[in-house]
Amino acid sequence: MSNDAQTNPAEAPLTFDNERARARFLDDLRAVVGDEHLLVSSDLRASYETDWTRRWTGSSIAVARPANTQEVSAVLATCQRHHIACVAQGGRTGLVGGSVPSGNQLVLTVERLNDIGAVDFDSGELTVGAGTTLGALQRALSQHGWEFGVDLASRDSATIGGMIATNAGGAHVVQHGQMREQVVALEVVLADGTVMGGASDVAKDNAGYDLSALMVGSEGTLGVITSARLRLVPHYRHRVLSLVGVDTLTTGLELLGHVRRSTHAVAAAEFFDHAAMQLVEQYLAMTRPVRPSPWYVLIECASDTDPTEAMAAGLTGTPGVDDDAVAVALDSPGRQILWSFRESITEAIAQIGVAHKLDVGVAPRLLDQFAHEVRTAVHSSFAHSSVLLFGHLAEGNVHVNVINVPPTDATVDDLVLRLVGSMGGTIAAEHGVGRAKRDWLHLARSPAELHVMRALKSALDPENLLNPDVLFA
Ligand SMILES: Cc1cc2nc3c(=O)[nH]c(=O)nc-3n(C[C@H](O)[C@H](O)[C@H](O)COP(=O)(O)OP(=O)(O)OC[C@H]3O[C@@H](n4cnc5c(N)ncnc54)[C@H](O)[C@@H]3O)c2cc1C
Repeated sequence: MSNDAQTNPAEAPLTFDNERARARFLDDLRAVVGDEHLLVSSDLRASYETDWTRRWTGSSIAVARPANTQEVSAVLATCQRHHIACVAQGGRTGLVGGSVPSGNQLVLTVERLNDIGAVDFDSGELTVGAGTTLGALQRALSQHGWEFGVDLASRDSATIGGMIATNAGGAHVVQHGQMREQVVALEVVLADGTVMGGASDVAKDNAGYDLSALMVGSEGTLGVITSARLRLVPHYRHRVLSLVGVDTLTTGLELLGHVRRSTHAVAAAEFFDHAAMQLVEQYLAMTRPVRPSPWYVLIECASDTDPTEAMAAGLTGTPGVDDDAVAVALDSPGRQILWSFRESITEAIAQIGVAHKLDVGVAPRLLDQFAHEVRTAVHSSFAHSSVLLFGHLAEGNVHVNVINVPPTDATVDDLVLRLVGSMGGTIAAEHGVGRAKRDWLHLARSPAELHVMRALKSALDPENLLNPDVLFA
C-alpha cells in the first residue's frame, strides 16, 4: 500500500460513545453471522479495507460475511439499531473508491452469496447470488450455449452485485448494452433490513416504478443487492477480431462506421494510444503485430453466420488503412493474443504506480479534440506526468490514466473533469462516482437531477447509513 493512498474523507464518521456500545454491536452481529464470519482483528480486515487501485484505503469496525438474504437483512437491521453505517462490498475491483470503508463503518461483503441457479432455456435467463464472480458465471454458462452480455478484464474478481451497483459497461456494450440491459429483476435489502423484490417468472411487469432499475448504478447507497435475475445472450458460432493502427480516432470511427455498414455483428470497438501499447508490450513481453501508430483500434464481430468477409469489406473501405496497419484473428488463441494488448493495459499501469483513473465520456466526434486538450492541459500543469488514453470507441468512453502525480493531489482530477464538463461530456461513463468523483457530480447532473437523487436517497435511507461517503459530497 502506498503511503500516499487516500484515507477517510474530511467529514466525521459515525462514532461509538463507548467501548461497551461497540462490544454490544459486535455481539449482535456475531449472533447473526457466527463468530467465524465476523472479522474483527486488523489482519483479517486488512484486505477488505483497500481496493484494487491502491489509491483508496480506510478502516472498519469489522467485516461481516453473511451467508444468505436473511442474514444480510439481519446485519442491516443491526446496523440501523446501533446507528452504524455499512459499506456493501463485492470483489473490490471498483476504480472509484466506492467499496472502501472510512472509519467507524461495517463492511458487508456479499462474497458468500454465490449460488448460480439453473439456466431457464425457455426464457434465456438465470438467477445468481450477488457475490457470484463474472468469471464463475461465464464458466457455468459455457456448457449451455449461452453467454453473459457484459464482459470485463476484472472478470475473476468482479461480482454480479458490484457490476449492477456500478452499472458496469465493458467491451460488449456496443452489442448487448450495459449491466442495466442485462437485469430482469433484483432482490435487494433496504437500510432497515426490509427485503424487496426477488426473482419472478412473470415475463413482463409494468406495475409502477421499476425499482430494480433504480438500484442499477446506485453504488451501494440505496440498498444491498443480494440476488439478480439476469438476461443471457446467445453464444455466437463465429467471431473475428481486427487490430488496426490509425492516425486519428476520427479515422477509427470511420472504420467502425464502414464495418457497421457491412454487418450488424459488431461486438466490440475499443481504442488505445501508442503509450498504452508500448507499456503493454513491455508488460507482456510481446510485440505488436502492426506498424506503430498514434492510435490502435480493436473491432470484433460475432454472429451465427461468418462475419469475416463483411469485416474485410469494412476495413478495406477506409482511406489510410493499409495492410501493415491491420492484424486479423479468426481463431480463439489468435483473438486472445490481440485482446491481451487491450485487456492488460489496466494491470500494466498498476505495475508502474498508483494512477489517477478518470473514466469519462464525450460525444464520439469530439474524441480527437478531447485527447489533444487533455494531454496538453495535464502536461502543462504536471510536467513529469504521463497520460495514457484508452477506452470504448463506439461510446466515446475514455479512461484517462495519469501517472506520476501524487494520488492525494486532486488538482489533476479537477482539471480533467472540468475539461470534460466544458465539452458537454460525463464525468462517469462506466465506473461510477464513488468517493473519487463526488465533488464533481454537479458537472454531470443538473440541480433538478441532484435534488431528485438526494430525495430518493433520504426516502430509502433516511439515516444515511448505506455507503454514506460515496456519490454525494
Ligand atoms: C482490470 C480491470 C478492468 C476493468 N474493466 C472495466 C470495464 O471494462 N468496464 C467497467 O465498467 N468496469 C471495469 N472495471 C471496474 C470494476 O471491475 C467494475 O466497477 C465492477 O463492476 C466492480 O465490481 P466489484 O464486485 O469488484 O465491486 P466493488 O468494487 O466491491 O464495489 C463497487 C461499488 O458497488 C457497491 N457494491 C458492491 N456490491 C454490492 C451489492 N451487492 N449491493 C449493493 N452495492 C454493492 C460498492 O459499495 C461500491 O460502491 C475494471 C476493473 C479492473 C481492475
